[in-house]
Amino acid sequence: MKELAINGGNPVFTKPFPTWPIYGEEEEKAVIDVVRSGKWGGTNRRLLPELEMKFSQMHEADFAIPVTNGTLGITVALQASGVEPGDEVIMPPYTFIATASSALLFGAIPVFADVEEDTLLMDPDKVEAAITEKTKAIVTVHLAGASSDLTRLKQIANNYGLPLIEDAAQAIGTEWKNKKVGAIGDFGTFSFQSGKNVTSGEGGMILTNDEELADTAWSITNVGRIRKGKWYQHERVGWNLRMTEFQAAILLAQLGRYKGQLEKRQNNARLLDQSINEIEGIKSIESYKETSAHSYHLYMFRITDAKERGIDKTEFSKRLTGEGIPVQNGYVSLNQNMAIVNEIEKRTGRKYLNHCPISEKAANEEVLWLPQNVLLAEEEDMTKIKFAIDKVIHSFQR
Ligand SMILES: *Cc1c(COP(=O)(O)O)cnc(C)c1O
Repeated sequence: MKELAINGGNPVFTKPFPTWPIYGEEEEKAVIDVVRSGKWGGTNRRLLPELEMKFSQMHEADFAIPVTNGTLGITVALQASGVEPGDEVIMPPYTFIATASSALLFGAIPVFADVEEDTLLMDPDKVEAAITEKTKAIVTVHLAGASSDLTRLKQIANNYGLPLIEDAAQAIGTEWKNKKVGAIGDFGTFSFQSGKNVTSGEGGMILTNDEELADTAWSITNVGRIRKGKWYQHERVGWNLRMTEFQAAILLAQLGRYKGQLEKRQNNARLLDQSINEIEGIKSIESYKETSAHSYHLYMFRITDAKERGIDKTEFSKRLTGEGIPVQNGYVSLNQNMAIVNEIEKRTGRKYLNHCPISEKAANEEVLWLPQNVLLAEEEDMTKIKFAIDKVIHSFQR
């Protein structure tokens, strides 16, 4: 048995993984051009319309509204869908906190529908079971870049007359049945935060195919103005949630790199799927067969029955990090996140009870992931990741 690196052995992986973001002359020139144009946005627009066009075309959507970030993108989509303070919004618990805080920002109440064991995506049966007369929207998350079951979720949303919002922050380029996600529901929202697969440091985008919803979302992000109205004509209370030209410039350049990066991530993820599933006690997180393209913002895997086998996830990830693999422990299940629970209790005045055993087990005991930049390394590095995981899991069996 090889000695673990944290105990003084040789680490499996010694060279650094690709840093993120990846940039070059295109980005530099684009930003200088913005400076010199004197049009710096968000109402002084030169590149933003081009970004709206490119991004909506890329996702087969009719309308795109740029925003300051992905969190506020969800908030705006909820508000434009008619969600009010006190209304309930169904969403998965295994996601970034922003999926829930975007609703709590204006007093809407998250209700968590547990995820499926194999995919960690929101279970449509649990969504249907969670619907009450207070439910005013469903937010689904395309976790890690794997599409949630949009066919069934859309059907449920239609049956109950509820808007369906896709939190596609991790899913730029993801497809469901050969169609890009983002405008399959009523709204889709994206994030360009610094770790995301396409980034401008911060930023977000809202997509929809519905002109009226697009106009409402635009108005909310533009201090309540209407598209053809006067400057000081405010038809509702909205906020300044606009993106700048600097962000648009960087994003247009980053989109030029996206396709090649996506193919690399997908190829390396395939290699990891093949190799790490050979390790006894390790299983990659699955995606539906209808997911015709997975954007791989994260590569997720599970230590199966970790608790029963006496493997502590935190200790596992500490040992794997020691081997040179930048593994992450992942989310706290939002139904167990005290910041979220306290806020919900404050808003509703009731004790909070919402158990999500599958999400809790994934978060607390079993699921780990690798960030997208790891998937931009070389093919042979994927083999080393397998060796490192193998070495660490065997270290628990001594
Ligand atoms: C990143 C992320 C967000 C929030 O986006 P920001 O741009 O950071 O506000 C929301 N939901 C999910 C699933 C995310 O990964």
